[in-house]
Amino acid sequence: MSDERDAGPERLGYATRGIEYEEPLLFERSRPGRVGYSLPASDVPDADPAAALDPSWLRSDVPALPELSEVDVVRHFTRLSTWNAAVDLGLYPLGSCTMKYNPKINEWAARLPGFARAHPLQPVAQSQGLLELMWRLEQALAEISGMDRVSLQPAAGAQGELAGIMMIRAYHEHRGEKRHKVLVPDSAHGTNPASAALNDYEVETIPSGRDGVLHPEAVERAMNEDVAALMITNPSTLGLFEPHIAAICDLVHARGGLVYGDGANLNALLGIARPGDLGIDVMHFNLHKTFSTPHGGGGPGSGPVGVKNILAPYLPIPVVRRLEQAEGEGFALDYEFPRSIGRLHANFGNVGMFVRAWAYIRSLGPDGLRRCAEMAVLNANYLLARLRHAWHVPIDRTVMHECVLSDKDLEPSGVTTLDVAKRLIDYGYHPPTVYFPLIVHGALMIEPTESESLEGLDRFADALLAIADEARRDPDWVRTAPHRTRLARLDETRAARRPVLRWQPASSD
Ligand SMILES: *Cc1c(COP(=O)(O)O)cnc(C)c1O
Repeated sequence: MSDERDAGPERLGYATRGIEYEEPLLFERSRPGRVGYSLPASDVPDADPAAALDPSWLRSDVPALPELSEVDVVRHFTRLSTWNAAVDLGLYPLGSCTMKYNPKINEWAARLPGFARAHPLQPVAQSQGLLELMWRLEQALAEISGMDRVSLQPAAGAQGELAGIMMIRAYHEHRGEKRHKVLVPDSAHGTNPASAALNDYEVETIPSGRDGVLHPEAVERAMNEDVAALMITNPSTLGLFEPHIAAICDLVHARGGLVYGDGANLNALLGIARPGDLGIDVMHFNLHKTFSTPHGGGGPGSGPVGVKNILAPYLPIPVVRRLEQAEGEGFALDYEFPRSIGRLHANFGNVGMFVRAWAYIRSLGPDGLRRCAEMAVLNANYLLARLRHAWHVPIDRTVMHECVLSDKDLEPSGVTTLDVAKRLIDYGYHPPTVYFPLIVHGALMIEPTESESLEGLDRFADALLAIADEARRDPDWVRTAPHRTRLARLDETRAARRPVLRWQPASSD
């Protein structure tokens, strides 16, 4: 690959694209006396901070902090940022965790100084704009989901689940009922049983049918007066709509249980069906999934929780309330809810996410939201149609927003799902979710979302078709992927070991 003329820069450790391949740590770049600040000399006499401290507080065993100039630090982190996969750089096909593009108008709105610079301890009278936005977002989420009330407080889907299950526990306790069990289908995300267990419930797993969906008979067998709730994700993590959802909710309600809806896959239903109308009593929203706010390394999440009126007395406090006419105009924060499960987050929650989600909902409007769901479902089915002749599809039906493939057909070649995920990196893609849901052996779960163009979907499908072909013709090449990345394949069985840098001066591809 390398040209003779490149040998010079390569020998000195520079890449041909002008980026250093090796990025030393800030500690390694440090030079004594190099600083990134300029402060006037102290005019406080005897201002040696060490002298002002009790000697027993001083440690001598800590390494010195790196000493660098401002531009050294900026370039270090900017270079590292170019090594990242990001949804702004390409398709990010993680199934179940909707990783969708974050429209820049949301960022504009979140940076408006009135929101971005608001202090969490500012008095309510000075926070009216923010409270109104929160109140309106709650109303919008309630309308979209068919719930009666919403609290924006939880900071993630998992915390929304925790809040929901705490409310279910409080509801039964208030009625003098002691229930010990929560039912969770075997296709559920791990946070579901975790949230139930954190609330001291025993978790009973309900098997999905051979067709991948939950059947009323399976719920009926497990349902009794000791069951507090069923937690259900619809569409499920297999990307399948649960067709028996209404009958299943009726069964649970008939024995005094409540139904928790995991709303992480709401992107497939937006504007088409409402969990509240299907019988769900309490659910969470993932603003960082369905409502396009940043995700993971992009920022804090937000997992509002929505409830039917029977659970409203248990909502987290404070509750945002629009003032009644006699009280004048505006919004208040109410704390006087004796049955509330209490506070789950400092101050208001992750406010920047509320502004982004509100901007997203308002910029799309009801028709735009519905179109999101339609396009997300169409895109997933398009990918499946392009891939099913070359890939094993464990449950081959029309899907909702995501589809699940497996490595079963690659077995003779010895290539596994993990190898395919690594090889996709060579094609420039962040790998999809692998080995989940757990009920599909060697699962590859793909969610393209609504934002990808036809050409973008075709490019991704072409990559997966090429990899299936490579696995048959040259399995060793796939098994040792990635081959085009900065770092060679990591030995993931020994994660603590330092990775080996791939770059070598005269390597040929
Ligand atoms: C993402 C996800 C969760 C958890 O949400 P977080 O915001 O990551 O805590 C729960 N259930 C399902 C199905 C999910 O995809």
